[in-house]
Amino acid sequence: MRKYLIAANWKMNPPPKGWDAKDSPYRPQEKIEVVVFPTHLDLQACAKAGLTTGAQSGRPEQTGAFTGDVSMQMVQALGCRYVLCGHSDRRAFHLESDAFVAEQAAAAITHALIPIICIGETETERDAGKSKAVIERQVKPLKLTNDCIIAYEPVWAISRGDPNRPAATSADAEEMHAFIRSLLPKDLRDHIRLLYGGSMKASNVKELLAQPNIDGGLVGGASLKPEEFREIVKIASEK
Ligand code: PEP
Repeated sequence: MRKYLIAANWKMNPPPKGWDAKDSPYRPQEKIEVVVFPTHLDLQACAKAGLTTGAQSGRPEQTGAFTGDVSMQMVQALGCRYVLCGHSDRRAFHLESDAFVAEQAAAAITHALIPIICIGETETERDAGKSKAVIERQVKPLKLTNDCIIAYEPVWAISRGDPNRPAATSADAEEMHAFIRSLLPKDLRDHIRLLYGGSMKASNVKELLAQPNIDGGLVGGASLKPEEFREIVKIASEK
């Protein structure tokens, strides 16, 4: 059985109101894993308050001339257990390549961190019918282990609040998750958790998690709203 994991990606935002309260929805839960991804500046406070934390990025090198970055080793020393590798924001704004993302994930494993490796096609790639080719290209360089987690985040489905531009349906997501699972090494196929990311909300989480190859979610916008996030965690815990 793969345990559900719900990850809160706070991106470049302060921790949401009440994040460290006793009944905060961001605290570890009994039936599922809940992990928060604050900015690097808030990591230590979140870890000290007892939240399961992950960094939004980390470089593979241990030290060096990488202005503005932190290393996997530093992330681990702060008390983090997870790290995001290759989020589409990093691929777009920091030009992180498939090969670099694979290096990051390998360094994370070396430093006893669990990498959540983000993959996903852009809208242009999808419109050109290249979704599966892109996913294959992104998965190929990865040196996966049992603990690795992959987050399928179709870039076209991220931050979709507009009803005229809907997020991925659970059928869209499941088709791609099943495809991703088929690409995994046989001995890891049943173990590696596949999270869905792209406008996951309280209103669609139940249907998404009902899909056999979706093992949780990487939640952006909705994770900044404590009551909505509480509902997402509740629904995931009931599954
Ligand atoms: C994200 O950026 O990782 C994400 C999934 O965002 P949202 O949930 O807002 O689409």
